[in-house]
Amino acid sequence: MFTTMKTNTETSHIFSELHRKVIDSSFDGIVVINHRCEVVSWNRAAERIFKIPPDEILGRNMHEFITPVRYRQRAKEGFEQYQQTGRGKLLGTVIEIEALRADGSEFWVAMSINDIDINDQRWAFAIIRDVTHIKQSQMKLKELAERDPLTHLYNRRSFQSCLEEHLHGNIYLAILDIDFLKRINDLYGHDMGDEAIVYYADALREFFRDVICIARLGGDEFGVIGSFASDQDAVAEFERFRERLSATTFEPQPDIRLSTSIGIGSTMKAGTVARSLLRSADQALYTAKKKGRNTVSMA
Ligand code: GH3
Ligand code: MG
Repeated sequence: MFTTMKTNTETSHIFSELHRKVIDSSFDGIVVINHRCEVVSWNRAAERIFKIPPDEILGRNMHEFITPVRYRQRAKEGFEQYQQTGRGKLLGTVIEIEALRADGSEFWVAMSINDIDINDQRWAFAIIRDVTHIKQSQMKLKELAERDPLTHLYNRRSFQSCLEEHLHGNIYLAILDIDFLKRINDLYGHDMGDEAIVYYADALREFFRDVICIARLGGDEFGVIGSFASDQDAVAEFERFRERLSATTFEPQPDIRLSTSIGIGSTMKAGTVARSLLRSADQALYTAKKKGRNTVSMA
């Protein structure tokens, strides 16, 4: 705070010194670009965060240095639109986005963008913070909350949310269970049983590329939610999966023939209450097991 009155010149000198000092000692990158998107100010924190010294970037187009190639066109269009209209979607907001370091590696930044009129030209300045560690922790927590650690498929909770979200439409829900997994555990050990579960999960992911959700519901039980044109189409698709699984060799232990039983339910028959749909697929799975396994059954 300045407690004594100063002349205008003195005050303006002190303020420009102060601003320079604040900008230089800021923990956040502070970057100013002119109306051509050329960098006109690049503070020490920006140099530290992006590993680009000022003499390399000053006067150059900012996006060519710090924006990953896949975002450049969109960034260019946004900037041009802002120059023409004075309006920009990102102005005054904080966004989290991937950015580029000098060595080509990508990382996460939180960036707030504001504009300023300089001699009737629209300049903009960004305050940028490296938030890679926070972002990685968030992604890790999300992964732990949503995914099954063994197969990296969605877990039962995510499956339930996905189901609630899609119940209003015509959907099919299949519950799939590996046949005789206990026997694999008993004969070859628990680790081999785990490998069979991972192998099965990979086969599901590989086969059902366009479905709504694939999850490991627990143990050797999996769930698939998808939309198919008809009951026949749904059965045919799961039949193809069942056949392919039993026809392929389980590489880690070729003596083992993996097979699966599958029960399918649909909102068209079971209605749009999640519990009823799950029960109907579960009953169909029970029927498939009773028929001798390696079978698909439709509720
Ligand atoms: P079924 O043909 O009737 O499906 O018989 P199953 O032997 O596959 O037994 P079931 O599906 O009823 O039960 C699953 C078994 O899978 C129980 C347990 O021995 C085993 N299991 C469950 N979770 C795991 C796991 O995470 N790893 C391993 N290795 N085994 C598991
Ligand atoms: Mg089983």
